Amino acid sequence: MNFPNYDLHCHTTVSDGELSPEELYELALEQEVEVLAVTDHDTVDGYRQLIELQQQGLLSRQIKLVSGAEFTCLLDNQILHIVALDIDINHPVLLEHLSLLKELRIDRAERIAQRLIKRKLPDILALVISKSGQGQIGRPHFAKVLCDLKIVTTEAEAFKKYLGAGKPANVKVAWPELETVLQMISLCGGVSILAHPTKYNLTMSKLRRIIAAFKILGGTGIEISYPGINREQQNILQYEVEKNQLLVSAGSDFHTSKNKWTVLGRYPILPAGLPHVLSKCLNLSV
Ligand code: AMP
Ligand code: MN
Ligand code: MN
Ligand code: MN
Repeated sequence: MNFPNYDLHCHTTVSDGELSPEELYELALEQEVEVLAVTDHDTVDGYRQLIELQQQGLLSRQIKLVSGAEFTCLLDNQILHIVALDIDINHPVLLEHLSLLKELRIDRAERIAQRLIKRKLPDILALVISKSGQGQIGRPHFAKVLCDLKIVTTEAEAFKKYLGAGKPANVKVAWPELETVLQMISLCGGVSILAHPTKYNLTMSKLRRIIAAFKILGGTGIEISYPGINREQQNILQYEVEKNQLLVSAGSDFHTSKNKWTVLGRYPILPAGLPHVLSKCLNLSV
């Protein structure tokens, strides 16, 4: 079998994506994606909904679904995103972790809303909660409501003025530690991938230390291809993959069709010959 078209990192309305899981599945069919992992922030509900529909025969079986989530965590106060793949979505340890994250996110949302009120903005908590629906609430829901109310003109502006690092409504959160998240993923039968390593605004030497720590703490692989990464950065990551004996993964980090630079199922070509996470999850040869 040829290596399939895949996307192992994307979002839906169960976190901060624009499309419902079913709409995303439809788009994946159009894009000829053959293996799809929905990896919403701190929830596996995107996969849960799709696999139930697929098992009931209500979705075509053309796409192989892999369970997934993108977990928020901390290493020495640095926020990192860890994509978990092929995880047991009913494992009690996972369910406990997810409910803790739900509480952390609701508590954070209340504190963000208070900070905005202090800046003489209206109380938007109820609107933000309604925007997030049943899903995990995040800063993008605040950004969307601030846009709706014409307080800012773009979501990027909302981050730049209020929600981003060092800005007035960027409240501190006691996210779980990287080690806890890696242990949890492994206990629940999954593999753990360091998401978009070049997107944390770190120096290369800091990033190298983080990748080494990730490996020592039990991490499985790193994303080596995603929108915005360049060849030079890929070369550096390739060296770290080989040195630390990691697997590679790739995905679009698709959130919305409005971002022209992210297209579901598309990302730069991967360097050849590296061990791929799908070889472990699906027993595929690269
Ligand atoms: P959260 O996990 O709630 O802190 O939200 C993180 C998400 O916010 C990321 O996954 C992005 O989708 C989004 N995000 C982060 N920074 C920006 C930015 N500067 N502009 C727009 N969206 C952003
Ligand atoms: Mn996001
Ligand atoms: Mn991320
Ligand atoms: Mn993401």
